[in-house]
Amino acid sequence: MTWEFATPAQLNELGERMHGLVRELYPICRSITGPGLRQTLALLAAQIPLVQHEVASGSEALDWIVPPEWSIRDAYVKDSSGRHIIDFQAHNLHVVQYSQPVSARMSLADLRPHLHSLPEHPSWIPYRTSYYELAWGFCLAHQQLEQLREGEYEVRIDSELSPGSLSYGEVILPGETADEVLFSSHVCHPSLANDNLSGVAVAVELIRWLQQRPRRRYTYRFIFAPGTIGALVWLSRNRETLARIQAGLVLTLLGDAGPSTYKQTRRGNTEVDRAAAHVLEIAGAPHAIRGFSPTGYDERQYGSPGFDLPVGCLMRTPHAEYPEYHTSADDLNLVRPASLADSWQKAAAIVDLLERNVRYRNECPYGEPQLGRRGVFAALAERSDKQQVQPAIPWVLNLSDGQHSLLDIAERSKLNFWQVAGAADLLAGQGLLTRVADPARDFS
Ligand code: ZN
Repeated sequence: MTWEFATPAQLNELGERMHGLVRELYPICRSITGPGLRQTLALLAAQIPLVQHEVASGSEALDWIVPPEWSIRDAYVKDSSGRHIIDFQAHNLHVVQYSQPVSARMSLADLRPHLHSLPEHPSWIPYRTSYYELAWGFCLAHQQLEQLREGEYEVRIDSELSPGSLSYGEVILPGETADEVLFSSHVCHPSLANDNLSGVAVAVELIRWLQQRPRRRYTYRFIFAPGTIGALVWLSRNRETLARIQAGLVLTLLGDAGPSTYKQTRRGNTEVDRAAAHVLEIAGAPHAIRGFSPTGYDERQYGSPGFDLPVGCLMRTPHAEYPEYHTSADDLNLVRPASLADSWQKAAAIVDLLERNVRYRNECPYGEPQLGRRGVFAALAERSDKQQVQPAIPWVLNLSDGQHSLLDIAERSKLNFWQVAGAADLLAGQGLLTRVADPARDFS
């Protein structure tokens, strides 16, 4: 019994499959609304039981309002000889997201304030947005910007900002209880691979894996929504669901070569915080645990003070801490199949831990039970993992007083959760343990 749910060969295959999905989604010009976002959700819906929701522009979402829908057909800047010097068709990062339509001729001096580049990385195109402020602009490599000469330029952005809707997708996998585990990934970035598509790919494979799981104690909800506004829309429309959320993870930045990072929930000591820390610890590789901060991804909406949901964030290198972040260099080469597979494996282990983290009561608590007479040694001898499970047996018997969960026992004994869970299965099978109901879940 182990925390690893796939062989190295299966992990290779999984990593390649996830990278394949990232490659498929990468060219689409997504934004927080519009056809690219819808196309992305439709593509996911062909693979997983995703329900697509549309929320009209102008709808209220907590303190926010759903913006007009943005669509873009084409955009370019041509020089006086008619040559495309910036072309949306070549890379969708060339246009500032939510640019209003433009069709004009102008001097370089007039065009210049609308051009964005990265002098420190002269060959990369930056990613810029202007969702809530009317503006237009182009992004380009700094080395290209430096080559622009005085003269007249033809500037065209064939876009539309009009009443429409915001789209988000939701997958619900019902379990034995209505208590929920929530996963959330943003789907609003255009051609950026690690920042958004890596989280989507891992979420899709977690869904597939959970669909095959013979039993699910929890109900699983996966949200694929545009960052910030999408999470706010979901929260505003699902108030009655929130009290059932027992644990959650924002999945993002899961494909780079950096070590795994877990960012804690606002409360910092919830079950998912302890589960994630335990899994990263026993995985053995370098990793980091960070305290909550009200920055980053949608964990700051789920963890806003009015909701205070137990939702952490699983990632590798945090946002803005790798140079390729929000640039054209966050591409298909930055995301590695092996990193995706490793991230998936850790997320799956966290899920398995949450599923199996129950409480038992020792039915023979006065003195140690006589294990041989109870058939424990015979049952142990049949297990291939007997070396791992044996040291957990006295711990599970001693601490199973109906109060301690298996994770409590693992933490206290310094054994790993799956050793403890294996011992609990064995002892329950011999009638020495009885599962107790979960204590009333409190939510305020
Ligand atoms: Zn981002």
